Amino acid sequence: KLRDNDISHVVEADRAHVWHHLIQHAGWTGPDPKADPRIIVEGRGMRVWDQKGKEHLDGVSGGVWTVNVGYGRERIANAVRDQLIKLPYFAGTAGSIPGALFSEKLISKMPGMSRVYYTNSGSEANEKAFKMVRQIAHKRHGGKKHKILYRDRDYHGTTIACLSAGGQDERNAQYGPYTPGFVRVPHCLEYRAQWDLSGEEYGLAAANAIEEVILREGPDTVGALCLEPVTAGGGVIVPPEGYWPRVQEICRKYDILLHIDEVVCGVGRTGTWFGYQHYGVEPDFVTMAKGVASGYAAIACCVTNERVFEMFRDDATDPMNYFRDISTFGGCTAGPAAALENMAIIEEEGLLDNTVAMGDYMLDQLRALKDKHAVIGDVRGKGLFLGAELVSDRGSKEPAPEKQVQAVVADCMAQGVVIGATNRSLPGFNNTLCYSPALIATRDDIDHLVSATDQALTRVFG
Ligand code: PLP
Repeated sequence: KLRDNDISHVVEADRAHVWHHLIQHAGWTGPDPKADPRIIVEGRGMRVWDQKGKEHLDGVSGGVWTVNVGYGRERIANAVRDQLIKLPYFAGTAGSIPGALFSEKLISKMPGMSRVYYTNSGSEANEKAFKMVRQIAHKRHGGKKHKILYRDRDYHGTTIACLSAGGQDERNAQYGPYTPGFVRVPHCLEYRAQWDLSGEEYGLAAANAIEEVILREGPDTVGALCLEPVTAGGGVIVPPEGYWPRVQEICRKYDILLHIDEVVCGVGRTGTWFGYQHYGVEPDFVTMAKGVASGYAAIACCVTNERVFEMFRDDATDPMNYFRDISTFGGCTAGPAAALENMAIIEEEGLLDNTVAMGDYMLDQLRALKDKHAVIGDVRGKGLFLGAELVSDRGSKEPAPEKQVQAVVADCMAQGVVIGATNRSLPGFNNTLCYSPALIATRDDIDHLVSATDQALTRVFG
C-alpha cells in the first residue's frame, strides 16, 4: 500500500512532468484544473485501482485494448523475471531462446506464414512491412510497384509514414507533409454505406472500390494493400459479407501484397488467434503488437510468409539483397518470454472460446440496449471487440456530438467502469463507444459494463 505522502508526491510529479498521450492537458482532469490526475496503481483480473483506492472495472483492457489476459498474471511476471536475470538483451548478430521459441509457437497459430521479425511497437511493425514492400518494389519492379494502399478510417500508427497510411484525418492533421506513395481507398462501414446497397452486395462494392483505385493508379505502381481485419479506432468496423474474399481476389489479380494490421485484433481479441482467420484470408504480412504479451512487456512482430522472406535471400551475390533494418529493442528477451506465457494462458484457459461466447453475449446485450436508447444507431462487434455508434437522429444518422459521447464515458468512469470511445480520430465521427474487455470476461462483468452504459446514456441523453 502506498502511504498518503507517497501518493501526493506521485500525483504532483505526474502533474508537473508527464506529458500524457492523446490528451489536451488544459482540461484533462475535468472542469477543475486543480483536480488530481488519475493514477492507476494496481490491477487484478479485470479490475484496477486508482491512487484513491477506488476500484474500476476495466472494459478496455488497459485503455487501449492491450491487456488481453487480464492483470496480475504472476506466471508472466515470473517468466520475464527469470529471463531478465538470465539474459535481458542481445541483438543484431545472434538469436535468443525466447525469441526462437515464441516465433515457433506463433507460426504454429498462423498456417501459411513462416517468419517473425521482432520490433517494439505496432507502428514500427507496420513500418517494417512498408519497408519490405518498398525494397521488393526496387528489387523486382525497378522501383515502380511501390505504392501502398490504405483504407479510410483505418489507423496504422503514429510515425510519419504510418500517419501517411492513416485514414483518420483528425489524427493526421497538422503533421504533414506526409510520406509520398500512400493512397487511400474507401472504408467498408455498411452503416454508413457510400452506395445504396447492403449485405454482400455492399461488401462486394466496397472491395471493388479498391480495384477502382488500383486501376486509376495503375496496377504496375501498386505494391501492397494494408488493412485492419476489423477496423478499431476508426469505429469498430466489422467487414461486410463478401468483402474479404473479393479483396483477396483483387490482390492476387494485380500481384499486390496483402498486409493485415492485427495490432488490435491479433492474439485472441476477436475470438480467433488473428482477425483475418475469420475470413479465410491468406496474407503476405501480418503485423501485431498490443495483445502479443498483453502489455506485460513491449513486443511487436512483423510476420511474413516464406514467399516474402525468400525475396530477401534469393541472391546472396547481391550485397543489397537483404533486409537492411534493425530494431534495437526488437532484441529484448522480455517480450517473447512474456508472449510465450501469454499464449499458453490463452490456450490453457480456453480464452478463445470464452471470447466467442462472451462476445456473442455482449453483442446481444448491446442490441437490447439499442432497443431501449434511440441514441444508439448501430451496434457491431466481433468477439470481445465491440462498438455502439451514437447518433442524434436515427433517420439522418447525424453523429452524436463528441462532447456528449465523452460525457457517457466520464459517467461510466464515475461509476467505476472504464469504457472507451473513438475520440480524436475522425472529425465529426468521434461517436462510437468501444468495449474490449479482457478475454477472461464473465457474464457478470459484461452485465456490469452494459448496465453502467445504460445508466450513463439515460443521464446524458435522457
Ligand atoms: N495499428 C493499429 C490498428 C492500432 O490501433 C495501433 C495503435 O492503436 C497501431 C497500429 C500502432 O501501434 P503502436 O501504438 O504500438 O505503435
